[in-house]
Amino acid sequence: MKQHEMTLILVKPDAVAEGLTGEVLHRLEKAGLKIINCRMLRLNGPLLKEHYAHLAQLPFFPEIEQFMSSGPVVAVALAGENAIAKVRDLLGPTDSTKAPKGTIRGDLGKDKMHNVLHASDSAETAQAELRRFFGSTDPKV
Ligand code: ADP
Repeated sequence: MKQHEMTLILVKPDAVAEGLTGEVLHRLEKAGLKIINCRMLRLNGPLLKEHYAHLAQLPFFPEIEQFMSSGPVVAVALAGENAIAKVRDLLGPTDSTKAPKGTIRGDLGKDKMHNVLHASDSAETAQAELRRFFGSTDPKV
């Protein structure tokens, strides 16, 4: 069933530094997603602990924190039909080395950690993440 949804992506610090933001947004726009809001910010410890709470117990969490705070990210709110699943499909699986060619991670990612983008993975996380980064889930903000 088609559903109009909003989702959130973060272009990760290495991808921003390497000038991949335009390429990523171009791919998403070509696939029919609309940019609703956009901001550049540097993630700090408390924000990262909240954002990656589901990974906080993992041994490599400090590395994720270090990586994700190593430079600015670009946060983008996107809207479209089935936007949450559509963005995850275009992105590919977490491990870039296993992501199929044609996906964002398969074409532009480096490894498990350096995988170009974060993208909301469910309606619940999309709502929480849109609020976290834009203070609202209202497309008009
Ligand atoms: P996804 O970003 O695909 O939703 P997760 O939520 O499981 O994946 O993990 C969040 C982020 O933590 C990943 O995008 C990646 O940067 C990092 N990560 C996850 N698993 C690993 C791992 N095994 N080794 C290194 N980094 C990892």
